[in-house]
Amino acid sequence: MTSSLITTAAGAPPPGTTAPPVAQPPGWQDDDAVRDVTERLAGYLPLVLPGECDRLTRRMAAVARGEAFLLQGGDCAETFDALTAEAVAAKLDTLFAMSETLSAGMRLPVVVVGRIAGQYAKPRSRPVEVRAGTALPAYRGDAVNGPEFSARIRTPNPYRMLRMYAASAATLNNIRALAPAGDEPREMFVSHEALLLDYERPLTRVAPGSGARYASSGHLVWAGERTRQPDGAHIDYLAGIRNPVAVKLGPTATVDEALELTHRLNSRRRPGRLTFIVRMGAGAVRTVLPGLVEGVTASGAPAAWVCDPMHGNTFTAPSGHKTRRITDVVDEIRGFFDVHRGLGTHPGGIHLELTGTEVTECVGGAGPGLDGLAARYESACDPRLNRSQALEVARLIADTARGDGAGSGPPAV
Ligand code: PEP
Ligand code: MN
Repeated sequence: MTSSLITTAAGAPPPGTTAPPVAQPPGWQDDDAVRDVTERLAGYLPLVLPGECDRLTRRMAAVARGEAFLLQGGDCAETFDALTAEAVAAKLDTLFAMSETLSAGMRLPVVVVGRIAGQYAKPRSRPVEVRAGTALPAYRGDAVNGPEFSARIRTPNPYRMLRMYAASAATLNNIRALAPAGDEPREMFVSHEALLLDYERPLTRVAPGSGARYASSGHLVWAGERTRQPDGAHIDYLAGIRNPVAVKLGPTATVDEALELTHRLNSRRRPGRLTFIVRMGAGAVRTVLPGLVEGVTASGAPAAWVCDPMHGNTFTAPSGHKTRRITDVVDEIRGFFDVHRGLGTHPGGIHLELTGTEVTECVGGAGPGLDGLAARYESACDPRLNRSQALEVARLIADTARGDGAGSGPPAV
């Protein structure tokens, strides 16, 4: 590998210009180590190939046109320790079971995109965590530091990005073996938040045919609610790659911001290129979402709209666990469908934090009550739907789409 690969990577500022500001910086302590790691990453094999990314863009174009539905799901934060063949198989099994239910209910093909094989970096609301008077860097995902509250483990270590690459490659290898079921050609893609630019930039590759640059870390990458500034480094990075990309939009997002993002990320108006993942919260989706969808639709830009009913509905239980109520999750999904039904636009898909086992992280439905969260709370970051809850949510979406479960009454779980 050569370091010229790094300087040509997407997102690197042209010489002589000011680099856009990087939100949520990992806080590396050692520039030489970062350089060593990024140079190594630049020489590694791509994890995904341009042709696969283009295929997902075509699938997302069908989503944007109303001819397909996106199911995107997986852990909030993957961890090195929880990475086992059984865990990967259970997540795939859950996603494909959900996709069958959704496809039958929506009468549409379902595009399955895991939040997997790269979801190792987390944005945090506070850069430090204080416990009993001691302040340490916040846990930022296994790609940066470890969750254990010790100065050594919490110190950001860029060499963890090499382990992220290895873990992602091994996960993808299992997915490529497991996704086709027998003779049945089941298709699955992978995605993650492109938060760690020191990982994404060196893994950016030029496609031999077109000369276009692609993130080779995953098929679809997104910018989160905290890194979606139109003039920031993360959007600059996404603007420079040809993968299908997504941006999260929270309740404070404005039409102008959405239009600016559309301009920055999809000025050529390629269908399937840009997806908005809206995470408004059950209380805001019905009031905030209509204006955004109307404004973007009126601009003529093709965008897919996907509902993340998790991130606007998080609260802390009396036990201290971060959790979410299934009733809120379901209410937000219903609001999302109601808004699109009202506007005559397509509710393009669902983005969920889920896992394939019976963890106790979200309350209600087939999960625990508020007093049962401790039994099996395993998430390194945000609470996930367990397998049963995830299947319940899929059934509920299917019913909503059929019209059986429509309306804004109390959710039936
Ligand atoms: C996430 O997807 O885990 C996340 C942090 O979401 P958001 O950017 O929407 O807050
Ligand atoms: Mn999360």
